[in-house]
Amino acid sequence: MNIYDSHSALKKKKISSLELITEALKKAHQNKNNSFISLTSDLALNQARTADEEISARGPRSWLHGIPYSLKDLFITKGIRTTAGSKILFNYVPPYDGFISKKISNAGGVLMGKVSCDEFGMGSTNENTPFGPVHHPLNPEFVAGGSSGGSAASVAEGSAAFSMGTDTGGSIRLPANFCGLVGFKPTYGRVSRYGQIAYGSSLDQAGPITHSVLDAACVMEFITEKDLLDVTNVANKKMSVVHELEKIKSGYLKDKTIGFSQEFIDACDPEVRNSLNDALKIFENEGAKLKNISLPHLKYSVAAYYLIATSEASTNLARYDGIHFGFRDKMSSKNLEDTYIRSRTLGFGEEVRKRIILGTFSLSAGYQDQYFAQACKVRRKIYEDFTTAFFQCDAIFSPVCASVAFKQGESKQDPIKMYMNDLYTIPVNLAGLPGLAIPFGHHKGLPTGFQLIGKSFQDEELLKIGHAFESVVKG
Ligand code: GLN
Repeated sequence: MNIYDSHSALKKKKISSLELITEALKKAHQNKNNSFISLTSDLALNQARTADEEISARGPRSWLHGIPYSLKDLFITKGIRTTAGSKILFNYVPPYDGFISKKISNAGGVLMGKVSCDEFGMGSTNENTPFGPVHHPLNPEFVAGGSSGGSAASVAEGSAAFSMGTDTGGSIRLPANFCGLVGFKPTYGRVSRYGQIAYGSSLDQAGPITHSVLDAACVMEFITEKDLLDVTNVANKKMSVVHELEKIKSGYLKDKTIGFSQEFIDACDPEVRNSLNDALKIFENEGAKLKNISLPHLKYSVAAYYLIATSEASTNLARYDGIHFGFRDKMSSKNLEDTYIRSRTLGFGEEVRKRIILGTFSLSAGYQDQYFAQACKVRRKIYEDFTTAFFQCDAIFSPVCASVAFKQGESKQDPIKMYMNDLYTIPVNLAGLPGLAIPFGHHKGLPTGFQLIGKSFQDEELLKIGHAFESVVKG
């Protein structure tokens, strides 16, 4: 079930929203991949009936009207439990809607429910959550990827036509890549973060997980409006790109230059490397010029990221103190300080506590210059590497991950190796650029793919290049 075709079927009255939703609910109720934390079946059925009435009177008002979608449980939804995948927000029901849920609901999207994620977005496998691991939709022994694993699994299993995820260091692109889907992280500042539970505020960005680049563009049109409630949201024009994508013919790639780093490709597992080389050949056959570029500081990105992201997380997560929000240890706390300590110790999972400690340390007096400030300098160097590279190319081609999906439990055996797996996605967040994961090929039943990185605020151009590639492959 994809957005574009479902929209056209709804428009031609070949199908109703209620039929789409009933079909999606069947899959969601089976919950065989453990994608959902909270299913909103009654709401979905009501929204579908309303959508059908509106569509039969005036036709669909947007690409998303009457279409089922899911939301990562980091997006604030009025009256609907929002947990951030954490025990500390286990029973939290927000009194307001965030930007994303408001915009998609205004466009007529039908919310199926809130889907699982690593606690506060911290992880790459969707195993770091008390709600249990999310399974890979094609093989339950593997992970769906994280942290937006529930988002990817819900789309792949058919319980949603699209899902909204968040990406701090790869959390949209990685699960999309593992599950054979498209994942788009827009330029930082392009989509409002109002009502998105914060992990690393200078890195976090919301974006869609979909079946195609065209579908990603359909979603982007409704979430790129300027929002005064987020000061980092840039006054940019609302995206309107679907009609341009519709016109793109294969010749579009002819005068494009695609940058790539041979070193990155060579460092991947053989099955991923083969699919990357095959994808590059397609660009070449379509007339694109390929240019080997150098990005010398990217090797430091994981180290810089884990200082910046955890530092920001340590301050962002200070608000969960057992007093203002969520879980409070009432039983054995003796005084106020004890309440803070016990509520946070019991409410946060191990990975989150570890990161709060690292972030607090890197920001502490005496160490700040050595760690946090150094990491910020490295971040600048990474940004400059990209700026230089973009003088020579229109988009950069890169792996999303060096391997296909990991086995369940593997991440616990070697956490450092797991952190290093984000090597290709993290630099994009550090530089604030748009990144688009595109599926291409399979290995032993598991999907492979690649990533295209675009110039700052040229999200539309990136979607066009991605769509042109997809059109060639899909025929
Ligand atoms: N895996 C990375 C982390 O754990 C990225 C997560 C994300 O993008 N939210 O920080």
